[in-house]
Amino acid sequence: MNRDSRALQALRATLLVTASVAASSGAAGADTPPFTPVAVTDGVYVIYGPLGLPDEHNRGFRNNVVLVDTADGAVVFDPGGSAWAGERVAAEVNAAMGKPVVAVFDSHAHGDHWLGNEGIRRVYPDVEIYAHPAMKARVEGADGARWLEQIERLTNGTADGRTVVAPTRTVVDGDEVVIGDTTFRIHHPGRAHTDNDIMIEVVERHVVFTGDVVRNGLLGLMEADSSFAGNVAAIDRLLAMDVAHYIPGHGPIGGRRALVAYRTYLDTLLGTVRKLYDAGLADYEMKPAVSDAVSSFRSWEGFAVRLGAHVSRAYLEVEAEQF
Ligand SMILES: [Zn+2]
Repeated sequence: MNRDSRALQALRATLLVTASVAASSGAAGADTPPFTPVAVTDGVYVIYGPLGLPDEHNRGFRNNVVLVDTADGAVVFDPGGSAWAGERVAAEVNAAMGKPVVAVFDSHAHGDHWLGNEGIRRVYPDVEIYAHPAMKARVEGADGARWLEQIERLTNGTADGRTVVAPTRTVVDGDEVVIGDTTFRIHHPGRAHTDNDIMIEVVERHVVFTGDVVRNGLLGLMEADSSFAGNVAAIDRLLAMDVAHYIPGHGPIGGRRALVAYRTYLDTLLGTVRKLYDAGLADYEMKPAVSDAVSSFRSWEGFAVRLGAHVSRAYLEVEAEQF
């Protein structure tokens, strides 16, 4: 892209974003979360999402959004959980860097991480969106429409989503995408938080974005395509990387301790379920004992809501190990 077209694109972004923020500010009120980029290291920022479930107040925004300043423009990881959030992210990029968004990476197919694609695309119609092939397939299939409908319903339409915007490019384990002066190295751990996770390393900045392979202070979805054992192995892979900064999918940056904490939750839960399975207990009989085993995580957001589903999921995983 030459200098003139880049300047034109940035100007177009400013106008669109100004118009859209002005149009939505009446409905948003003071309740909506702040979108303040916080510097992690040189040229890398996080916009922290609130930890609650999608509702009218957060308008679907609840994940960590990463902004990377490159010589060719801004790169965004996980642009938010709604079209509204994606537009706000585009506005913050413009305010913080004065550059267009030239690429987006989506970490996995859960809608609270990729529905913001639509908002970015409204401002930058030609932006490239990268994800794992299995993520792209899910979003283009029934999952994409399901997530769009669900977030609109939970937010009473304030998420402002109209259409599924799927990735345009696919990346697999070991790929490197070079944008301007910056290398984005892709790590796909196999089946972990989902079967389509990518963890994105910003090589020159010694940063890795873990997506939901690591969450700090929040327990969330573990669905049929997840693996507790695989997620533990993926965290071991992260711990072996030569990086200085780990950015989780949700919650504050907590260094290696945050990785070890979430690893402890997953490993303790799975180990306890395996032990009780061997003792002949059904999944619904295990919940009190498992809850005690992971009691140090009771203060984490989502503990009461998610624990039962996590036990059931781990039970099925242990059962599958037997065959
Ligand atoms: Zn997720």
